[in-house]
Amino acid sequence: MALNQQFSDRPRILVVGGGYVGLYVAHKLQKKVKSHGGIVTLVDPLPYMTYQPFLPEVAGGNIEARHAVVSHRTHLKQTELITGKVTGIDHSRRTAMIAPADGGEPFELTYRDVVMAAGSITRTFPIDGLKDQGIGLKTIEEAVALRNQVLERIETGSLMDAGPERDRALTFVVVGGGFAGIETITEIEDMARAAVKKNDRLEHADLRFVMVEAMGRIMPEVTEPQAVWVVAHLRSRGIQVKLNTSLASAVDGRLKLINMPDKTPADEFETDTLIWTAGVQANPMVRSSDFPIDERGRLRANAELRITGDDGPIDGAWTAGDVAAVPDLTGGGVGGFCVPNAQHAVRQAKLLAKNIYAQNNGVGRVKEYKHKNLGAVAGFGQYKGVANIMGFGMRGLPAWLAHRGYHGMAMPMFERKFRVVSNWILSFVFGRDTTQLMDLQTPKRQFREAATPPPKKAEAPASAGAAKADSYGAPAKS
Ligand SMILES: Cc1cc2nc3c(=O)[nH]c(=O)nc-3n(C[C@H](O)[C@H](O)[C@H](O)COP(=O)(O)OP(=O)(O)OC[C@H]3O[C@@H](n4cnc5c(N)ncnc54)[C@H](O)[C@@H]3O)c2cc1C
Repeated sequence: MALNQQFSDRPRILVVGGGYVGLYVAHKLQKKVKSHGGIVTLVDPLPYMTYQPFLPEVAGGNIEARHAVVSHRTHLKQTELITGKVTGIDHSRRTAMIAPADGGEPFELTYRDVVMAAGSITRTFPIDGLKDQGIGLKTIEEAVALRNQVLERIETGSLMDAGPERDRALTFVVVGGGFAGIETITEIEDMARAAVKKNDRLEHADLRFVMVEAMGRIMPEVTEPQAVWVVAHLRSRGIQVKLNTSLASAVDGRLKLINMPDKTPADEFETDTLIWTAGVQANPMVRSSDFPIDERGRLRANAELRITGDDGPIDGAWTAGDVAAVPDLTGGGVGGFCVPNAQHAVRQAKLLAKNIYAQNNGVGRVKEYKHKNLGAVAGFGQYKGVANIMGFGMRGLPAWLAHRGYHGMAMPMFERKFRVVSNWILSFVFGRDTTQLMDLQTPKRQFREAATPPPKKAEAPASAGAAKADSYGAPAKS
């Protein structure tokens, strides 16, 4: 693999991943590093950072998809940007292997420091049918697809006679009762309610929402009484909550649920919409590096956010966020490490930027990361939510306001905050937007149809019978 010649030859800080950690590290360092003759380079297969806490609201149609992402090009003007995937790191040579996102020739890039910030991916289990039937909620594209799927199923279901086929279309299942799962099922339930109001052929009772959670409680981030309240709240909205229940099979959309821990059959039904939010795992790309990883696949780190091996910190190697096992010096966390959330990712990123600068330029000193979790806020659709802020519990409208206030402030960059808040104001005034966009998967269908000459009259029956749909949904040439 050749070294790429088109990029800067200045001493490089290479940031792997432009999510929470990568965006903030690059943003904080880009100017300073440039003024010292260096360059910050950020590599990500996506040209934007995704504000993941907004994904349920994007799926629920409250926030416009483009407003929940932060463009790298707009906000990292002094950073060298590469849209591609880091496929390997050879730190002994301070070299990264990069595959461009457009499928172009892979190349190598050298660096002085590397910041490993590739986050996490959805954690799944080998369940029959899950890969084909399920959808996660980690990306903006998944959120957009989910919104459309729910609205499309409601519209299609409204044209069906009552029976198993319609039940299947109108059943929506979320597996995983953490924050993401509960916010997702409540947001789509709220959106579905609004969609059904506009559709005379359906009633809300025709729809079925099922939350499946393997543990005996949901939302470990809130107190036990709050979690109990959330379950009661979901049930009051007609959402079925199945605790101590696990998904055993999803072949062809036929879900088999089992009781935990004895694994006896619990329920069996069909659905077209299976949403999987049962946790995350560190991005396995770290296995293609020569860095030490722990038993959970995370990069081993110390509290200074340096990657750390058995012999101590590794020179020029830094990490933070979901991909890293950062010790939680407050004594909290899970197993002594910070839990993977945005609260830590943002704060770690800001400290990491300072630490690199201090280490390389002797300005300030390298400090340890220590942050006591402030709590959590969650929105459950319009005016509903739950929050636990520094031990102070809230629910209903105050919690929902806290959720909006917190995330409105936490969204990076003023321009993005403004867009998101504008979305909320528009939703408040005009209600949720429940318009389904057609042909998202087949955008060229109409054009192909228009550009296809009509069959000659005499040939019409034969060619119509032989036509097959191509990948754009238009009749293919025979
Ligand atoms: C639905 C949902 C809701 C959430 N809600 C909350 C919440 O309310 N509060 C909270 O604190 N946390 C929340 N989180 C968690 C929070 O979003 C994550 O902890 C946070 O995004 C972690 O930041 P990160 O920078 O480590 O990873 P990410 O933000 O995931 O960024 C990783 C980046 O690395 C890139 N990447 C991946 N592979 C490669 C590669 N090979 N090469 C280069 N780049 C790569 C990705 O494209 C991505 O841009 C939520 C998460 C989800 C999914």
